[in-house]
Amino acid sequence: MKHIPILDLSYEINELKPQLMNAFESVIDNGVFIMGANVKQFEAEAAAYLGVKHAVALNSGTDALVIALLAAGIQEGDEVITTPFTFFATAEAISQVRATPVFVDVEPRTYNLDLNQLEAAITPKTKAIIPVHLFGHTLDMDRLMSISEKYGLVVVEDVAQAFGGMYKNKKVGTIGDFGCYSFFPSKNLGAYGDGGMLVTNDASFAEKAAMLRVHGSKKKYYNEVVGFNSRLDEIQAAILRIKLPHIDEWNEGRRTAADRYAKLLEGVDGIIAPSEDDYAKHVFHQYTVRVTNGKRDELQKKLEAEGISTMVYYPVPVHKLPIYESMRVQMPVSEQLAEEVLSLPIWPQIDATVQQYVIQKIIEALQ
Ligand SMILES: *Cc1c(COP(=O)(O)O)cnc(C)c1O
Repeated sequence: MKHIPILDLSYEINELKPQLMNAFESVIDNGVFIMGANVKQFEAEAAAYLGVKHAVALNSGTDALVIALLAAGIQEGDEVITTPFTFFATAEAISQVRATPVFVDVEPRTYNLDLNQLEAAITPKTKAIIPVHLFGHTLDMDRLMSISEKYGLVVVEDVAQAFGGMYKNKKVGTIGDFGCYSFFPSKNLGAYGDGGMLVTNDASFAEKAAMLRVHGSKKKYYNEVVGFNSRLDEIQAAILRIKLPHIDEWNEGRRTAADRYAKLLEGVDGIIAPSEDDYAKHVFHQYTVRVTNGKRDELQKKLEAEGISTMVYYPVPVHKLPIYESMRVQMPVSEQLAEEVLSLPIWPQIDATVQQYVIQKIIEALQ
């Protein structure tokens, strides 16, 4: 079998190429590259799809987190709770606004922040919490919201990996005060460059975020506060408008692929497959298994030798990175997961025979 990448975008590109090329041509013919009609329309279409009042398209998912925290008034001296088992950008956004990240360990089944440990981490300085819907699986949002309401915390959902995922009958990202999405090319809804968006049902939060996006101004050259240049560009917005109508079908493709992996992994010793809670619709941004008995790195090497790419998300929990190491906190579950997790090849159109081959090679490698 030829080399198997962890993600293969060629299927969607082949399927959509004529539309993508038309959209590109129409943007360059129009000559409006920044804050044009495509950005406005994409915001309206994404808000309608998600079922949320306001969407503000931005330059990246990282900026979405930073801008959400600033729009909520988070500042130096405030504590913001999050998970250490995430991409660095989640914690980085907290530090970027000069607040202090406070880590709460994850639970091993869904790899998400352990709500049983949340209340113990709340102090009088705690102002916000950033739950991360890691790999596409939501947290128990009712429970999270009831705790955050009890303590008056702002909830900023990091939905970078879960566009289209659901909690009960709601899209994730629309339950807290803010939902922050990334359109990095490998995300479930990816642009062909950087991109991001925040959504909120609060008009004043949306207005602040829209100001921060363009140098802190509502009216050009009448800048009111220090902001950013964090706009989604027209070409990326035009591409995202073409891709958005396909997201449900693509997420279903990922779910079907995940079901196939789960069946193939039944009874395989040494591998723990990911699970999905009753209230969740998992969108499998990653299909991440745990490899027990200390065999993860060896397995990954053997698979690479067979031409199968896998990834370790994430090899170092955020609290162990150099800039946070001085906190000296211990997060045993995250630390164990960092040694065990392995993300397998997945994309919406992945073929069953490719998956069979991957699992067959895993079984052989573990023998
Ligand atoms: C990708 C990602 C981000 C950052 O998004 P960018 O668009 O790359 O800035 C933040 N949080 C998580 C969990 C991510 O996976």
